[in-house]
Amino acid sequence: MSRVVVATGNAHKLVEIGRLLAAAAPDLTLVPMGELGVPAPVEDGDTFADNALLKARACAEATGLPALADDSGIVVDALDGAPGVRSARFAGDDADDAANNLLLLVRLAMAGADTPAARRAAFVCAAALVLPDGTTHVEHGRMAGHVVDAPRGDGGFGYDPLFVADATADGRTNGELAPEEKDAISHRAAAFRALAPHVAAALSR
Ligand code: IMP
Repeated sequence: MSRVVVATGNAHKLVEIGRLLAAAAPDLTLVPMGELGVPAPVEDGDTFADNALLKARACAEATGLPALADDSGIVVDALDGAPGVRSARFAGDDADDAANNLLLLVRLAMAGADTPAARRAAFVCAAALVLPDGTTHVEHGRMAGHVVDAPRGDGGFGYDPLFVADATADGRTNGELAPEEKDAISHRAAAFRALAPHVAAALSR
């Protein structure tokens, strides 16, 4: 059994990452950083890749284990790429999903973006693997779509009720998708599937 530390305190994310890597690395045991006493690092990078790498590096350095991390968010064309790396705290450091979603709708209205074409956006994820010897791998995933004008669905999290992916032909928001439907098209799934061969190779060394 091979232990890899994951830079997250989110139990759902841990399960999701495990599911995405299971085919490539069946012996993998993912350990959340909190279980090993690693404090959450400050996410002050300028890019998703910077943040994913700084989180994974902190975990690898503190534990001597291979470490995985991701950083993700929504990038909205009409807002020049905002909220981007600030997605989790768009409406303030302690903002919840409802406050962030409301601010996104207000900002799009202020920008006069009132058609699907004007409300183009994408979820982006960078997934990083850092090995104890300092070797790093980063992969990206992207899910393109548009922001709707009112939330629909109570599945998923974050901006999911406001986002319709291009890959969802019937116009449901991510909040209206079953988890396996979202997994099939998500930015996080794409990034971790691309990272999976590197994880498998690292564990077989
Ligand atoms: P983190 O990478 O887990 O820190 O996520 C950053 C923020 O981006 C989250 O708090 C959400 O607001 C947003 N986000 C990232 N991925 C998703 C997603 O799959 N659906 C909805 N919101 C997301």
